[in-house]
Amino acid sequence: MTCILIMGPPGSGKGTQAVAIAEHHRVPAISTGDIFRANVDAGTPLGRVAREYMEAGEYVPDSVTTAMLRERVDRPDCRQGFILDGYPRTMAQVAALDEILEETAHELRAVLALDVDRSDLVDRLVLRAATDGRTDDTEDVIRRRLELYTEETGPLLAEYDSRGVLVRLDGSGTRADVAARVADVFDARV
Ligand code: AMP
Repeated sequence: MTCILIMGPPGSGKGTQAVAIAEHHRVPAISTGDIFRANVDAGTPLGRVAREYMEAGEYVPDSVTTAMLRERVDRPDCRQGFILDGYPRTMAQVAALDEILEETAHELRAVLALDVDRSDLVDRLVLRAATDGRTDDTEDVIRRRLELYTEETGPLLAEYDSRGVLVRLDGSGTRADVAARVADVFDARV
């Protein structure tokens, strides 16, 4: 069935939009960041591995992240499709996702990429730090996460563009503004 990716730098609002799209299509929104945070909170072995990387703003190793995602996608609620938020983030994860989709007979229908100015991102992340208390929303860690997104994850956009599945969207404005733009894209092509 269908898989949709939502990409964007930290603070771009991709998590919020992923949940809205998932509700609309009645499929799960899978956030690798949320799964890691739940494991950290529960003190699982996976959480103990992930924590160190997350707190430093670094990516959790591909092998760990991909094994976790594979297990999640194999669950029955993903049979009709799913939305991915925060995976893939590296070229190795792109290749791993291709394999997973082939094995589970899902088609990559669209990759939505939210574009937001860097100064807006920092403002949003600082605000989120104050309201959500995420331990990776401190200034240094925010800087590192944005840097890593540009270096490691930015090149994925060119890859998906070359496959004809990339849709870039203006991610500025309110949640409702962005949701309306996302809905237009879905009406037009998904
Ligand atoms: P997020 O909530 O998507 O911003 O993710 C929070 C943190 O979880 C990231 O800064 C990474 O440390 C880790 N993480 C989430 N998804 C991935 C991924 N696909 N690959 C590696 N690390 C990830």
